[in-house]
Amino acid sequence: MGYEYDDQNIFARILRGEIPNDTRLETEHTLAFNDINPQAPVHVLIIPKGPYVCYDHFASLASEAEIVDFTRSVADVCRMTGVAPGSGGEGYRAIANTAVHGVQEVPHYHLHILGGRNMGPMLSRRD
Ligand code: 5GP
Repeated sequence: MGYEYDDQNIFARILRGEIPNDTRLETEHTLAFNDINPQAPVHVLIIPKGPYVCYDHFASLASEAEIVDFTRSVADVCRMTGVAPGSGGEGYRAIANTAVHGVQEVPHYHLHILGGRNMGPMLSRRD
């Protein structure tokens, strides 16, 4: 039980500078970059720099400084990409896919911010 972090995952490699990324924002504890396979006109991934596998792992064990930094970075990304309603944007969808049932591809916690168009129904099943 518990969480095991695989430091060879692609986002760990991005954080170590081994793989390039299209950075939108970087702070002490957080990195935000464009998704390589965008599903909407705005598709930014926001990740903590710490070794957290998923949202609840981060929410359980991250320091207050990391959590505040991450959360404020979400606001900054939404503002800078023009999707934040408070800055005249039309809104966005935030997604944190987690583990098997959440169909998480990369085992480093990341929040997807998707916007720039109507995102449609919340879920579509494929079974
Ligand atoms: P997940 O299914 O884990 O929530 O989503 C992982 C996301 O990471 C996908 O949307 C995928 O396009 C993106 N991704 C995978 N590899 C890379 C990469 O090397 N660079 C960037 N920028 N995004 C990636």
